[in-house]
Amino acid sequence: SSLLEVKNLFKSYGTGEARVEVLKGIDLTVAAGDTIALVGPSGAGKSTLLHVMGTIDRPTSGDVLFDGEKIFNLADQPLAAFRNRSIGFVFQFHHLLPEFSALENVMMPLLIGGEKRSRCEGRALKLLKDVGLSHRVTHRPGELSGGEQQRVAIARALVREPKLLLADEPTGNLDMKTSEEVHALLYEIQRNTGISLVIVTHNEQLAAGMARTVRMVDGKVVEAA
Ligand code: ADP
Ligand code: ADP
Repeated sequence: SSLLEVKNLFKSYGTGEARVEVLKGIDLTVAAGDTIALVGPSGAGKSTLLHVMGTIDRPTSGDVLFDGEKIFNLADQPLAAFRNRSIGFVFQFHHLLPEFSALENVMMPLLIGGEKRSRCEGRALKLLKDVGLSHRVTHRPGELSGGEQQRVAIARALVREPKLLLADEPTGNLDMKTSEEVHALLYEIQRNTGISLVIVTHNEQLAAGMARTVRMVDGKVVEAA
Protein backbone atom coordinates (compact mmCIF):
# COMPACT_ATOMS: atom_id res chain seq x y z
CA SER A 1 0.00 0.00 0.00
CA SER A 2 1.21 3.56 -0.55
CA LEU A 3 2.64 5.43 2.38
CA LEU A 4 3.10 8.75 0.61
CA GLU A 5 1.56 10.13 -2.56
CA VAL A 6 2.75 13.29 -4.26
CA LYS A 7 0.13 14.65 -6.66
CA ASN A 8 0.69 17.33 -9.31
CA LEU A 9 3.04 19.20 -7.02
CA PHE A 10 4.25 22.70 -7.87
CA LYS A 11 6.62 24.83 -5.84
CA SER A 12 7.90 28.29 -6.64
CA TYR A 13 9.94 30.80 -4.74
CA GLY A 14 9.60 34.58 -4.93
CA THR A 15 6.96 36.69 -6.67
CA GLY A 16 6.57 38.74 -9.84
CA GLU A 17 9.73 39.11 -11.91
CA ALA A 18 11.73 37.22 -9.28
CA ARG A 19 9.44 34.19 -9.29
CA VAL A 20 11.26 30.91 -9.86
CA GLU A 21 9.31 27.72 -10.45
CA VAL A 22 11.34 24.88 -8.94
CA LEU A 23 8.87 21.97 -9.01
CA LYS A 24 6.67 21.76 -12.11
CA GLY A 25 4.03 19.11 -11.62
CA ILE A 26 5.56 16.19 -9.72
CA ASP A 27 3.72 12.89 -9.28
CA LEU A 28 5.37 10.24 -7.14
CA THR A 29 4.23 7.39 -4.92
CA VAL A 30 6.27 5.92 -2.08
CA ALA A 31 5.05 2.50 -0.99
CA ALA A 32 5.53 1.16 2.52
CA GLY A 33 9.03 -0.34 2.60
CA ASP A 34 10.04 1.32 -0.66
CA THR A 35 13.64 2.40 -1.23
CA ILE A 36 14.03 5.25 -3.71
CA ALA A 37 17.14 6.97 -5.00
CA LEU A 38 16.28 10.50 -6.13
CA VAL A 39 18.86 11.50 -8.75
CA GLY A 40 19.44 14.23 -11.34
CA PRO A 41 21.61 17.27 -12.04
CA SER A 42 22.27 20.01 -9.52
CA GLY A 43 19.40 22.52 -9.46
CA ALA A 44 16.82 19.97 -10.69
CA GLY A 45 14.73 20.44 -7.54
CA LYS A 46 15.61 17.25 -5.63
CA SER A 47 16.20 18.92 -2.25
CA THR A 48 13.08 21.04 -2.66
CA LEU A 49 11.00 17.94 -3.39
CA LEU A 50 12.48 16.17 -0.37
CA HIS A 51 11.67 19.17 1.83
CA VAL A 52 8.06 19.26 0.64
CA MET A 53 7.70 15.48 1.05
CA GLY A 54 9.05 15.93 4.57
CA THR A 55 6.65 18.86 5.23
CA ILE A 56 9.56 21.22 6.03
CA ASP A 57 8.30 23.34 3.11
CA ARG A 58 4.72 23.85 1.91
CA PRO A 59 3.98 23.43 -1.82
CA THR A 60 2.57 26.25 -3.96
CA SER A 61 -0.08 23.84 -5.27
CA GLY A 62 -0.78 20.13 -5.45
CA ASP A 63 -1.13 17.59 -2.66
CA VAL A 64 0.93 15.29 -0.51
CA LEU A 65 -1.02 12.41 1.03
CA PHE A 66 0.46 10.46 3.94
CA ASP A 67 -1.45 7.28 4.81
CA GLY A 68 -4.21 8.70 2.61
CA GLU A 69 -4.47 12.02 4.48
CA LYS A 70 -3.79 15.41 2.86
CA ILE A 71 -1.13 16.54 5.30
CA PHE A 72 -0.89 20.16 4.16
CA ASN A 73 -4.46 20.71 5.32
CA LEU A 74 -2.92 20.76 8.79
CA ALA A 75 -2.01 24.10 10.39
CA ASP A 76 1.66 24.70 11.21
CA GLN A 77 1.67 23.27 14.73
CA PRO A 78 -0.17 20.01 14.08
CA LEU A 79 1.92 19.68 10.90
CA ALA A 80 5.11 19.92 13.00
CA ALA A 81 3.74 17.31 15.42
CA PHE A 82 2.91 15.02 12.49
CA ARG A 83 6.42 15.53 11.06
CA ASN A 84 8.10 14.76 14.38
CA ARG A 85 6.35 11.45 14.82
CA SER A 86 6.24 10.24 11.20
CA ILE A 87 9.33 11.42 9.34
CA GLY A 88 13.07 11.22 10.01
CA PHE A 89 15.68 13.36 8.26
CA VAL A 90 19.37 12.89 7.57
CA PHE A 91 21.28 15.70 5.87
CA GLN A 92 24.69 15.92 4.21
CA PHE A 93 26.03 17.71 7.28
CA HIS A 94 24.99 16.03 10.48
CA HIS A 95 23.58 19.08 12.36
CA LEU A 96 24.35 17.47 15.71
CA LEU A 97 24.48 19.73 18.76
CA PRO A 98 28.23 20.17 19.45
CA GLU A 99 28.03 20.61 23.22
CA PHE A 100 26.00 17.42 23.79
CA SER A 101 27.12 13.77 23.81
CA ALA A 102 26.10 11.26 21.14
CA LEU A 103 23.58 9.80 23.61
CA GLU A 104 22.07 13.21 24.41
CA ASN A 105 21.85 14.10 20.72
CA VAL A 106 19.94 10.89 19.98
CA MET A 107 17.67 11.31 23.03
CA MET A 108 16.87 14.94 22.25
CA PRO A 109 13.83 14.42 19.97
CA LEU A 110 12.24 12.14 22.58
CA LEU A 111 13.02 14.48 25.49
CA ILE A 112 11.55 17.41 23.56
CA GLY A 113 8.52 15.20 22.88
CA GLY A 114 8.03 15.01 26.66
CA GLU A 115 8.95 11.38 27.28
CA LYS A 116 10.48 10.13 30.53
CA ARG A 117 14.26 10.44 30.66
CA SER A 118 14.83 6.74 31.50
CA ARG A 119 12.76 5.60 28.51
CA CYS A 120 14.50 8.09 26.22
CA GLU A 121 17.89 6.89 27.39
CA GLY A 122 17.04 3.21 26.90
CA ARG A 123 15.74 3.80 23.41
CA ALA A 124 18.72 5.99 22.45
CA LEU A 125 21.24 3.44 23.75
CA LYS A 126 19.54 0.69 21.71
CA LEU A 127 19.68 2.85 18.57
CA LEU A 128 23.35 3.71 19.15
CA LYS A 129 24.05 -0.01 19.49
CA ASP A 130 22.12 -0.67 16.25
CA VAL A 131 24.34 1.83 14.39
CA GLY A 132 27.52 0.32 15.90
CA LEU A 133 28.36 3.08 18.37
CA SER A 134 27.97 1.49 21.80
CA HIS A 135 31.57 2.52 22.52
CA ARG A 136 30.94 6.18 21.66
CA VAL A 137 27.85 7.19 23.65
CA THR A 138 29.57 9.80 25.85
CA HIS A 139 31.61 11.33 23.03
CA ARG A 140 30.68 14.74 21.67
CA PRO A 141 30.33 15.20 17.88
CA GLY A 142 33.74 16.90 17.67
CA GLU A 143 35.34 13.77 19.13
CA LEU A 144 33.82 11.50 16.47
CA SER A 145 34.86 10.72 12.88
CA GLY A 146 32.70 11.91 9.97
CA GLY A 147 31.21 8.44 9.55
CA GLU A 148 30.48 8.17 13.26
CA GLN A 149 28.84 11.59 13.28
CA GLN A 150 26.59 10.51 10.44
CA ARG A 151 25.72 7.28 12.32
CA VAL A 152 24.65 9.38 15.30
CA ALA A 153 22.53 11.53 12.97
CA ILE A 154 20.91 8.35 11.59
CA ALA A 155 20.18 7.07 15.10
CA ARG A 156 18.65 10.43 15.99
CA ALA A 157 16.50 10.36 12.85
CA LEU A 158 15.14 6.93 13.86
CA VAL A 159 14.59 7.51 17.56
CA ARG A 160 10.88 8.35 17.22
CA GLU A 161 10.29 5.34 14.93
CA PRO A 162 9.28 7.24 11.80
CA LYS A 163 7.63 5.46 8.87
CA LEU A 164 9.66 7.45 6.35
CA LEU A 165 13.36 8.32 6.35
CA LEU A 166 14.41 11.15 4.02
CA ALA A 167 18.10 11.65 3.39
CA ASP A 168 19.72 14.45 1.38
CA GLU A 169 23.20 13.43 0.17
CA PRO A 170 23.86 11.54 3.42
CA THR A 171 27.31 10.39 2.27
CA GLY A 172 28.17 13.49 0.23
CA ASN A 173 30.71 14.61 2.81
CA LEU A 174 32.33 11.19 3.44
CA ASP A 175 35.20 9.31 1.80
CA MET A 176 34.42 6.25 -0.32
CA LYS A 177 35.05 3.56 2.29
CA THR A 178 33.06 5.39 4.97
CA SER A 179 30.27 6.01 2.46
CA GLU A 180 30.07 2.28 1.77
CA GLU A 181 29.77 1.56 5.49
CA VAL A 182 27.01 4.13 5.91
CA HIS A 183 25.18 2.69 2.86
CA ALA A 184 25.38 -0.79 4.37
CA LEU A 185 23.97 0.57 7.61
CA LEU A 186 21.05 2.27 5.85
CA TYR A 187 20.21 -0.95 3.97
CA GLU A 188 20.38 -2.95 7.19
CA ILE A 189 18.10 -0.52 9.02
CA GLN A 190 15.66 -0.67 6.13
CA ARG A 191 15.60 -4.49 6.20
CA ASN A 192 15.21 -4.63 9.97
CA THR A 193 12.50 -2.00 10.31
CA GLY A 194 10.64 -1.99 6.96
CA ILE A 195 10.93 1.79 6.97
CA SER A 196 10.52 3.61 3.62
CA LEU A 197 13.67 5.36 2.42
CA VAL A 198 14.03 8.23 -0.04
CA ILE A 199 17.63 9.29 -0.60
CA VAL A 200 18.91 12.15 -2.77
CA THR A 201 22.26 10.98 -4.04
CA HIS A 202 24.92 11.43 -6.71
CA ASN A 203 26.45 8.14 -5.60
CA GLU A 204 25.82 5.48 -8.28
CA GLN A 205 26.55 2.67 -5.86
CA LEU A 206 24.03 3.92 -3.33
CA ALA A 207 21.43 4.38 -6.08
CA ALA A 208 22.08 0.85 -7.38
CA GLY A 209 21.32 -0.61 -3.96
CA MET A 210 17.86 0.94 -3.86
CA ALA A 211 14.75 -0.72 -5.29
CA ARG A 212 13.79 2.28 -7.41
CA THR A 213 15.45 5.26 -9.08
CA VAL A 214 13.54 8.46 -9.74
CA ARG A 215 15.34 10.94 -12.00
CA MET A 216 14.52 14.64 -11.98
CA VAL A 217 15.49 17.29 -14.53
CA ASP A 218 14.40 20.94 -14.38
CA GLY A 219 11.62 20.48 -11.82
CA LYS A 220 10.07 17.40 -13.41
CA VAL A 221 10.36 13.65 -12.98
CA VAL A 222 11.76 12.39 -16.28
CA GLU A 223 12.21 8.75 -15.35
CA ALA A 224 10.78 6.62 -12.59
CA ALA A 225 11.57 2.92 -12.29
P1 ADP B 1 18.81 20.11 -6.32
O1 ADP B 1 18.62 19.52 -4.95
O2 ADP B 1 18.31 19.18 -7.40
O3 ADP B 1 20.20 20.57 -6.57
P2 ADP B 1 17.28 22.32 -5.29
O4 ADP B 1 15.95 21.83 -4.91
O5 ADP B 1 18.29 22.55 -4.22
O6 ADP B 1 17.89 21.40 -6.43
O7 ADP B 1 17.15 23.70 -6.06
C1 ADP B 1 16.35 23.84 -7.24
C2 ADP B 1 16.27 25.29 -7.63
O8 ADP B 1 15.53 26.01 -6.65
C3 ADP B 1 17.63 25.99 -7.71
O9 ADP B 1 17.62 26.81 -8.85
C4 ADP B 1 17.68 26.82 -6.46
O10 ADP B 1 18.46 27.96 -6.64
C5 ADP B 1 16.22 27.16 -6.21
N1 ADP B 1 15.89 27.36 -4.78
C6 ADP B 1 15.96 26.44 -3.80
N2 ADP B 1 15.58 26.94 -2.64
C7 ADP B 1 15.26 28.24 -2.86
C8 ADP B 1 14.80 29.33 -2.04
N3 ADP B 1 14.58 29.16 -0.75
N4 ADP B 1 14.58 30.50 -2.65
C9 ADP B 1 14.78 30.66 -3.96
N5 ADP B 1 15.20 29.69 -4.80
C10 ADP B 1 15.45 28.51 -4.25
P1 ADP C 1 15.38 -6.70 17.81
O1 ADP C 1 15.94 -7.51 16.70
O2 ADP C 1 16.39 -5.87 18.55
O3 ADP C 1 14.46 -7.44 18.75
P2 ADP C 1 13.80 -5.43 15.71
O4 ADP C 1 14.63 -6.13 14.68
O5 ADP C 1 12.34 -5.69 15.74
O6 ADP C 1 14.42 -5.58 17.19
O7 ADP C 1 13.96 -3.89 15.51
C1 ADP C 1 15.22 -3.33 15.56
C2 ADP C 1 15.11 -1.95 16.12
O8 ADP C 1 14.43 -1.12 15.21
C3 ADP C 1 14.32 -1.87 17.43
O9 ADP C 1 15.01 -1.01 18.31
C4 ADP C 1 13.01 -1.23 17.04
O10 ADP C 1 12.48 -0.45 18.10
C5 ADP C 1 13.46 -0.38 15.91
N1 ADP C 1 12.40 -0.04 14.96
C6 ADP C 1 11.36 -0.78 14.57
N2 ADP C 1 10.62 -0.17 13.66
C7 ADP C 1 11.24 1.03 13.44
C8 ADP C 1 10.99 2.15 12.59
N3 ADP C 1 9.96 2.22 11.75
N4 ADP C 1 11.85 3.18 12.64
C9 ADP C 1 12.89 3.16 13.48
N5 ADP C 1 13.18 2.16 14.30
C10 ADP C 1 12.36 1.10 14.28
